[in-house]
Amino acid sequence: MDAAGVLALVASPFAGSFLGVVVRRLPQGRDWAWSRSACETCGRTLRPAELVPLLSFALLRGRCAGCGGAIGWFHPAIELAAVAVTVLVIVAVGTQPAVLLAGCVLGWVCLALALIDWRHQRLPDALTLPLLLLGLLVTAWLQSRHLFDHALACVLGWLAFRAIALLYRRLRGIEGLGAGDAKLLAAAGAWLGVAALPRVVELAAGLTLLGVLGSALWTWRWLAPSRRVAFGPGLAASLFACWLTQGF
Ligand SMILES: [Zn+2]
Repeated sequence: MDAAGVLALVASPFAGSFLGVVVRRLPQGRDWAWSRSACETCGRTLRPAELVPLLSFALLRGRCAGCGGAIGWFHPAIELAAVAVTVLVIVAVGTQPAVLLAGCVLGWVCLALALIDWRHQRLPDALTLPLLLLGLLVTAWLQSRHLFDHALACVLGWLAFRAIALLYRRLRGIEGLGAGDAKLLAAAGAWLGVAALPRVVELAAGLTLLGVLGSALWTWRWLAPSRRVAFGPGLAASLFACWLTQGF
């Protein structure tokens, strides 16, 4: 593998560690960009040596060096997931630096969105809107002749989901499809173009259905009809999968 691939793999656990901070803090409105990491149990600010992704967790055996409180599997799990994203990008599209960087950032943001929507049933604008802009920038840079098509796909994606949401609200009187889902589909349009939109939605619906069936089997309980199902995780996974398989 060349230098770009190795660099991406080495950077991935650090990206995953940052994603962990975003996923935990962004939905609560806490500062996620600049504040130092602290132990969730005793609040002690962590030293740089305790912040090395994966390695610190392994060396400390999952416990805080100060109070001995459990650090939790969430941290190493999201760091490993970020590495998995990078491996998928390298296998699918190779290590051309610009494409590799674009793919990793797309995959990492999709990972954060999927986790936040799964836990909190919302897709923050602070992630969906930059993802949309980034999709247009990447298109302008790597496939500039498709820029108009991708910009059009943004508008169509957003309109399609808003129309469905309004119709659903009119018919059933409750919120079905959230505004965040429409922004995420608009972002998918920015990354993939008009022709890919139906495939993105189909795959997202399939993945969401699998998730619902899987969790019903797992808990041995069928969902109550009123229970909300988060569509964001399926949509984020579908966007990333469609980008990986679109070919460069
Ligand atoms: Zn502690």
